[in-house]
Amino acid sequence: MKPIRKFIVRAVVPPQLSALEELAANLRWSWHEPTRRLFEHIDPLGWRRSERDPIAFLGDVDARRLEELAHDDGFVAWAERERDALRTYVSEPRWFQSLGADTPRTIAYFSPEFGIAAALPQYSGGLGILAGDHLKAASDLGVPLVAVGLFYKAGYFSQAIAPDGWQQERYPALDPDGLPLSVLRRADGTPVQVTLAVPDDRSLHARVWQVAVGRVTLLLLDTDIPANDDDLRQVTDRLYGGGGEHRLQQELLLGIGGVRALRAWSELTGRAFPDVFHMNEGHAGFLGLERISACIGEGLAFGEALQLVRAGTVFTTHTPVPAGIDRFDRALVARYLESGLLPGIDPADALPLGLEPGVAAEESAFNMAMMGLRLAQHANGVSKLHGEVSRSMFASLWPGFDADEVPITSITNGVHAPTWTDPALLELAEERLGTGDTEHADWLSTAVSDAELWSVKRGMRLQLVEDARRRLAAAWADQHAGAVAPDWVRRVLDPDVLTIGFARRVPTYKRLTLMLQDPERLAAILTNPDRPVQFVIAGKAHPADEEGKRLIQRLVQFAQRPELRERIVFLPDYDMGMAETLYPGCDVWMNNPLRPLEACGTSGMKAAMNGALNLSILDGWWAEYAADDHGWVIPTADAAPDPAERDRLEANALYDLIEHRITRLFYDRDHDGVPTEWMTRVRRTLANLSPELGADRMVREYVERLYRPAAEHAALVGANGAKPARELAEWVAGVRAAWPSVHVSHVESGGVEATPHVGDELHLRAHVALGWLTPDDVAVQVVYGHSHGDDRIEDARVALLEPDGVSNTDGATRVYVGTITLDRAGAFGYTVRVVPRHPLLLSTAELGLVAAAT
Ligand SMILES: *Cc1c(COP(=O)(O)O)cnc(C)c1O
Repeated sequence: MKPIRKFIVRAVVPPQLSALEELAANLRWSWHEPTRRLFEHIDPLGWRRSERDPIAFLGDVDARRLEELAHDDGFVAWAERERDALRTYVSEPRWFQSLGADTPRTIAYFSPEFGIAAALPQYSGGLGILAGDHLKAASDLGVPLVAVGLFYKAGYFSQAIAPDGWQQERYPALDPDGLPLSVLRRADGTPVQVTLAVPDDRSLHARVWQVAVGRVTLLLLDTDIPANDDDLRQVTDRLYGGGGEHRLQQELLLGIGGVRALRAWSELTGRAFPDVFHMNEGHAGFLGLERISACIGEGLAFGEALQLVRAGTVFTTHTPVPAGIDRFDRALVARYLESGLLPGIDPADALPLGLEPGVAAEESAFNMAMMGLRLAQHANGVSKLHGEVSRSMFASLWPGFDADEVPITSITNGVHAPTWTDPALLELAEERLGTGDTEHADWLSTAVSDAELWSVKRGMRLQLVEDARRRLAAAWADQHAGAVAPDWVRRVLDPDVLTIGFARRVPTYKRLTLMLQDPERLAAILTNPDRPVQFVIAGKAHPADEEGKRLIQRLVQFAQRPELRERIVFLPDYDMGMAETLYPGCDVWMNNPLRPLEACGTSGMKAAMNGALNLSILDGWWAEYAADDHGWVIPTADAAPDPAERDRLEANALYDLIEHRITRLFYDRDHDGVPTEWMTRVRRTLANLSPELGADRMVREYVERLYRPAAEHAALVGANGAKPARELAEWVAGVRAAWPSVHVSHVESGGVEATPHVGDELHLRAHVALGWLTPDDVAVQVVYGHSHGDDRIEDARVALLEPDGVSNTDGATRVYVGTITLDRAGAFGYTVRVVPRHPLLLSTAELGLVAAAT
């Protein structure tokens, strides 16, 4: 029978154990091992059955067992100790509180997905898990962050694999009552509702769920409420489920509804309304328009409000592929903007924010990344290489400037160590190194021997093997009407065989099937009698991605070959719960994207934190941290004549590395059976990389390099009733209008001889027309450096020229002079340019205006 309605009946926890409910209600349990141990102690089997989800667990646990524990003074005291520790954790001063004044009041962090725990499946992959790790690290550091997202009734999707290898998607509906959520309510108990005007005189309403993530509150907007028309109830049905209008509605709700929810939250809690807004990818870009609308309501013009809003906004781009960016039909966006959605905003002002440079307005899509970059004065990519790629990819927004001047910096992603470090490793560090801080533990210390660490790694591998067998048996039963799985399923994988992990979403660039370039060679690697290898693979293809599903099918069918199936497995339904045992259980973590399409990649970081060595294309984070001690680089064959040849070359290199380098090192054992060379690398990986790859490091960087400057800048332009913002807007408009008449008429040089030498001085005298601008409005610069055949200045340096009156030929042209020293030998080139200058601009390129000598 199929029930017509389902709900969760929460267990009645005896009052003596109320601490358990308080602990279950804050997701800190998801990264706090002592709290997990407390729950596990109640009923270890039930704890595992509930997939370590305290709320599901408390709903399931035998009432008699709870009664018994309620009278166990030791247990009651233990639970209360943990509860007190949680209360201390959420209230004591932490790193951020040591920064003193001049820090942001509140930072609002917007993301379309959040991966915090398997128990709250509101993520699809890396972007969401990163967001979850960001919140957890912000909590640990005491950063006053509040997060905003959507509550998707079916989350992403859960994956099953049919016997023929084809991916099947299921969308089990989540019941908010069974999740660690509470409705945001007004003092009188009524739920807060945010409302957006949508076309045809309708309204879209959403309630607001609150999630406690340590010290951080996450607000999730949910449209599945009776106040909505049936179709509008579905707006938050699934994560990345629909295209076009459905997706636009989600993003309008996230951005605009999110800011409205924050207002209510701020009023109700007394917490300061955010002074910094961070968009994790472009999906939440509409938040800027909602804030502009509010400023207009307070009397500012659009351009003035834009300056105010930009100053406090941070935009993080995550994709180096234009196809990965959300683009909407302009007419559709216009229809929404014309429906009274954003009071005070003329759609004619808002629509250009989404224009794609170089495309005629009528033909341009409404591009969310372009809007994000225009609405944020502070922007970054997520690894050094991705920063570089982003500066090129978006360079057309700052025409006339070289890519390295594009104002997009980078902060390399990190992963939350307490979440991603296996408890066995944590225990070892606590016992032997005297610290639970695995990120900064001295892993090279002799207090831990190779043999001990090796044995802990084996335990983690065994745990993965057992988990894989359980999952495959359950998947078999699921696909064969409850039939018991055949014997071989209970024999897959071996806890003593070199284990390579490979799990990812399945967009084409990640090349799930690169390893199948030469299937027989891979088969030989897997079944090598002396140095066998096993692969654990997982990943979901987007439901609309048929090509991705074909890749999965090829891999699954390969893994079904009877002689291989115990050495290579595809585990269905990759999620955080699986990831928890997968990363620690691997000896090698493999990643073979098409360079440079992996913006950062975080799975390899999580593996490294558990002592796995990386085997990866030099892309994303690995381009910064690759070293012999940390793993192996798969050489990139980007000079190959075509993609097929490139795949072939890179796959061959991959096989060679596994056959000749990796397996040899792994199976080269001392008399105790320990691979000492291997363990040296494991220890160096843990020692060198853990402190670097942590989300702590990442969030500190965000605070210091982006949040703090953004808050300061917002305060500056917002002072005195936003007077500086008004002046800046007026100045920007004036400069833009005047710019066509700004140019460098000619440049005279002197000082160097026919054959210049290092140390010679070059004197410059530039004649510059400024139209009606004054010398205060501009900077005249000489840009110089190496210049070879391609007419570009490399490693350009910039020096200011100084005003030296007006030219005596026309009395209007201004003269600028300066001297540079030729301090490097080789081909030299320079040019002179005029750029706008204002104390409230953060970068030379900011306005995309430049007039260079021709
Ligand atoms: C870390 C993680 C990802 C992201 O991995 P990438 O290397 O960035 O592709 C995706 N899914 C899950 C479950 C993860 O834990």
